[in-house]
Amino acid sequence: MQTSLVLTIEDIKKLATECSLDVVGVTSADSFDDVRQIYLERYAKGYFGEMRWITPERINLGCSPQDMLPGARSILVFAYSYLRDSNVPNENDGVIRGRVARYALGEDYHYFLKEKIELFLDKLKVITGKDFASRISVDSGPVIDRAVAARAGVGWYGKNTNILIPGYGSWVLLGTALVDIDLPLSSHIRKSCGSCTRCISACPTGALVAPGVLDSRRCISYLTIELKGPIPRDLRPLIGDWIFGCDICQEVCPVNIKGKKPNHPEFSDLPGWGHRPDLVSLMRMTEDEFRNKFRRSPVKRTKRRGLLRNVAVALGNSGDRRAVPVLVEALSDHEPLVRGHAAWALGRLGGSEAKYALESRLQIEEDSYVREEIQLALDEIEV
Ligand code: SF4
Repeated sequence: MQTSLVLTIEDIKKLATECSLDVVGVTSADSFDDVRQIYLERYAKGYFGEMRWITPERINLGCSPQDMLPGARSILVFAYSYLRDSNVPNENDGVIRGRVARYALGEDYHYFLKEKIELFLDKLKVITGKDFASRISVDSGPVIDRAVAARAGVGWYGKNTNILIPGYGSWVLLGTALVDIDLPLSSHIRKSCGSCTRCISACPTGALVAPGVLDSRRCISYLTIELKGPIPRDLRPLIGDWIFGCDICQEVCPVNIKGKKPNHPEFSDLPGWGHRPDLVSLMRMTEDEFRNKFRRSPVKRTKRRGLLRNVAVALGNSGDRRAVPVLVEALSDHEPLVRGHAAWALGRLGGSEAKYALESRLQIEEDSYVREEIQLALDEIEV
């Protein structure tokens, strides 16, 4: 059984605040047997899609703290809010705009959140006088951070699968640290979603297949970030104007509407980016421009070809034929993935200019995937 050191949970919270971490909780290093079962069942149903790093072995490891850090006694979980006042552009300025998940507006959190947790642990070593062992994870290791957060009691599992933290909602990034010393445990909150089902009804692709159960293969975040190849054609119209991630199930959540806005500086918009970026400019971005713009951003994960694939889909969904010229240019892009989605978008927007461009490209296109996209677009186009 765990025994508390001289530290109290209030001391730990104070230390977290000193390190500019918004929320901290502590749970035991017991295994997560219930979570293991649930995740293995979801894996068997294919709900993790092409996220090939999620394997039964990794799920087992992530639910076994002793295997991740021999002698582990406690697990700390930290939450860092990315909510801030956003610069909303004038929506009537004639620019065709996309939409970006809020966490992706600024710097890549993997780096700075780990640094904050390292600072916290250094200070904890000084306070306890112990040079304890630790293992930090920020969306990188096998640790299932949401399970840790729920068991530590800092929040509850929402029906949208996010952890909802009183005062902050789910607009938070999570990080964890396994340690091999006993720490005082945090107390549980007694809250739940109750009868609310807003997120389930609001999801345009029906990705929340049951309360708290996400089929990633239909999730817009997965489709625009994790999926590396073509987006299934039947889901493209449902993606709307999202080009990197999606916040719909968070935006409709009543808990989130009341979330604090700490305005942490790391989440300030990158130049030429933001919550509602200009799609036509993005569609013309070169590889060098992509690398320079997103060097310190989570957006680099999709690479240029993934982002432009998403931009093409959003332009196709815009219903705005002013997007046709830039999509015609994209039919000559060096990436087949971009050419294929540009073809789909032209077919969706329709018009004689789009049809002529598709027919012309079909005469010289050599890639079989792109040829198929062009042919399907021509089959459906309205002029
Ligand atoms: Fe829970 Fe309602 Fe928020 Fe969904 S929208 S996570 S059901 S409180």
